[in-house]
Amino acid sequence: MQGKIIIFSAPSGAGKTTIVKHLLQVNPLLAFSISACTRDKRGRTEENGKDYYFITPEEFKQKIAKDEFVEWEEVYEGAFYGTLKSEIERIWESGKHVILDVDVKGGLSIKHFYKERALAVFVKPPSIEELAKRLQARNTDSASSISSRVFKAEFEMKFEDQFDKVIVNDNLEEACSKAEKLVNEFLNAEPAIV
Ligand code: ADP
Ligand code: 5GP
Repeated sequence: MQGKIIIFSAPSGAGKTTIVKHLLQVNPLLAFSISACTRDKRGRTEENGKDYYFITPEEFKQKIAKDEFVEWEEVYEGAFYGTLKSEIERIWESGKHVILDVDVKGGLSIKHFYKERALAVFVKPPSIEELAKRLQARNTDSASSISSRVFKAEFEMKFEDQFDKVIVNDNLEEACSKAEKLVNEFLNAEPAIV
């Protein structure tokens, strides 16, 4: 089997993590690519090596110098996130397909890197107002972090047309079943020629 890669991108708060977690529960062929990042771990809700590889800015710079990333971004000021080549290879070698959740620019970079081997899905919130409400209700970010995420979201919404597929996440159940359908279609299609 040739491994494929499924990218979920969206402005922060649109629901991509929730949808990706659902897909991982229902589809045993998928494995989550854990990114490296330099931000602090969120209290007790996150684990190193499960949610992210939490590393220092110095370690991150060394990995850039050694060309260890497929892509990396300073997603928010001072917070670097990157997709490790070793992580994608590890998952493919285990016989699974990769699923990942990255910001909009990162998602498009990964799509350009893997081309037909990748499916890039944009998760769209019903509105920016609803996105802000979800970020507040999630209760994981400070007021200033929420406002920088909402500000960035307005810019990121312009990239929807560059994705292979768009899912509007209004009703979560409907968005999850659409995501399941898109993923199954992509995985059942002829293997990509790369
Ligand atoms: P992202 O990964 O895109 O930042 P999350 O998956 O963390 O977004 O979702 C943001 C918040 O919105 C979470 O608290 C999540 O439970 C909630 N959420 C996700 N989808 C919906 C939805 N369709 N309706 C209402 N709340 C939602
Ligand atoms: P959070 O800090 O809320 O976990 O994530 C912030 C943003 O960084 C989210 O939009 C998330 O999808 C994105 N992100 C996570 N990992 C990566 C990565 O490896 N590369 C890029 N470009 N963005 C990432």
